[in-house]
Amino acid sequence: MHHTPSTTKPPKVGFVSLGCPKALTDSELILTQLNAEGYETSKTFAGADLVIVNTCGFIDDAVKESLDAIGEALAENGRVIVTGCLGARTGSDGASNMVRQVHPKVLAVTGPHATQEVMDAVHLHAPKPHDPFVDLVPAGVSKIGIKLTPKHYAYLKISEGCNHRCTFCIIPSMRGDLVSRPVGDVLAEARALFESGVKELLVVSQDTSAYGVDVKYRTGFFDGRPVKTRMVDLCEQLAELAGPHGAWVRLHYVYPYPHVDEVLPLMAAGRVLPYLDVPFQHSHPEVLKRMKRPASGERNLERLLKWREACPELVIRSTFIAGFPGETESEFQHLLDFVREAQIDRAGCFAYSPVDGAAANLLPDAVPAELREERRARFMAVAEGVSVQRLRRRVGATMQVLVDRAPALGRKGGVGRSYADAPEIDGTVRLLPPEKASKTLKVGEFTRARIVSAEGHDLVGQPI
Ligand code: SF4
Repeated sequence: MHHTPSTTKPPKVGFVSLGCPKALTDSELILTQLNAEGYETSKTFAGADLVIVNTCGFIDDAVKESLDAIGEALAENGRVIVTGCLGARTGSDGASNMVRQVHPKVLAVTGPHATQEVMDAVHLHAPKPHDPFVDLVPAGVSKIGIKLTPKHYAYLKISEGCNHRCTFCIIPSMRGDLVSRPVGDVLAEARALFESGVKELLVVSQDTSAYGVDVKYRTGFFDGRPVKTRMVDLCEQLAELAGPHGAWVRLHYVYPYPHVDEVLPLMAAGRVLPYLDVPFQHSHPEVLKRMKRPASGERNLERLLKWREACPELVIRSTFIAGFPGETESEFQHLLDFVREAQIDRAGCFAYSPVDGAAANLLPDAVPAELREERRARFMAVAEGVSVQRLRRRVGATMQVLVDRAPALGRKGGVGRSYADAPEIDGTVRLLPPEKASKTLKVGEFTRARIVSAEGHDLVGQPI
């Protein structure tokens, strides 16, 4: 019989999204496309025609979580398409695909950033609903699409992949070399987001400071005006777009290259948040060399102090690795001194853990697991001391706070964040009930708050 797609009941697609903010934006692109083509999406596996699992393959725990999610979807639904970083990993035999090896019943497997391949698999296994209206809408009509983050903040991915080859990381082997998105597209997406009510834009990539390197900082166009594909130019334009909406622009994954200095005046002028997420990973030049870190030859401490001079409000968040192969006690001490001297506001630390396929596994003088763990704990004790001290200085100050939670219009208080807190990774500002009965708090709106105390990683503020 000739197959006629049903016009009455659109196919339902279940969706599981795992992994980092970059994976989240991939999920959003797929969901947007599904929606534009008239598919329905479902949060449960049972009622769906098939399930898409967007996986993460960064560390062993994430691999396990992803494989478990695929297993669960197979058990409950049976028809599963796998995408994301884990989908790009090879199996233990070095030849086959890891996901297929563990779960041979999956319908299709793609790597990250593969919206079209995922859609092809969906079309094959749950044919597209025919809807004369939808079919007339050109693909990509929605610039904003579906956001998985709360509506008042959104991630803006400016590039894919990475040109570095840090020895502990397998992202480049999964995602390939740096590919910058055209600056006009990035800015159009940012504008659409601000227009839809986004109050905080989080710029993400693997290496934000390298934006445009792959296209030799080519001049693109936005609104008929030439704009260079370059970090500083991008920041300037984002600030311009955010201004009329009173919205925040926050930069993640920035390496301490000299040209980042040029962004500091934008921060000092309050046009881009004075917040930099700089994944230093270590401070000792020899360790950085063994890690093959970007900007490892830079004088990081001096650069940082210069940045703080240019913009005293600057908040630095960073991540570090303790117990990297070959790390001596004195190299580790260097790291502790760095955190104290650089006054890192927010620091995370991992005990080094070998990732399958990473070059660092072959380095000599592995640090024993207990010592790695011990150094991580010592690091965190020092970092927390710095962090708490810096937070305490804010008591008495008035800060602008973006409200994330406020039940009953904030009559019993709420939770928000200041410029110093990125969502999900940093602390929060706990908001007390407003003193004035007429004052309300609304999710996605700003309030001013007088900081009354500091509690661990968080602040407590009185809305005014
Ligand atoms: S900069 Fe290094 S750690 Fe970051 S994605 Fe590139 S290779 Fe991995």
